[in-house]
Amino acid sequence: MYCDRCGAEIPAGAAFCANCGAPVSQAPADPYAPVYPAAPAVKPSSILTMGILAVSFCCTVYFAFLGIIFGAIGKSKAKAYAASCGEPSGQVKAGSIMSKIGFIVGIVVTAILVVVLAVAIIENM
Ligand SMILES: [Zn+2]
Repeated sequence: MYCDRCGAEIPAGAAFCANCGAPVSQAPADPYAPVYPAAPAVKPSSILTMGILAVSFCCTVYFAFLGIIFGAIGKSKAKAYAASCGEPSGQVKAGSIMSKIGFIVGIVVTAILVVVLAVAIIENM
């Protein structure tokens, strides 16, 4: 930014020119300039979605593995969010917890399913 009267460079935010003392006409900020909030690398809602999917699928016997997958995605998203944005918000916290539950329950249910199927196969041999 330069002084209207003498052309000296004026630091942004200064009220007067340091060279000649002329008051600086503050050009208003462009009202049409788009304002981009610092977008987090990971959307909190996507973490919540993964958590909900993980919890929804983790008890569906044959699709419990989807709980593991969604849970793993949700957990890694929550981790990435925490790394870039710090303190997790409600959605992130809820999504992270549900992802963990879905992940663990999904593993347990899938493990039981595998054992039951294995036993059934062995008994039928
Ligand atoms: Zn000046």
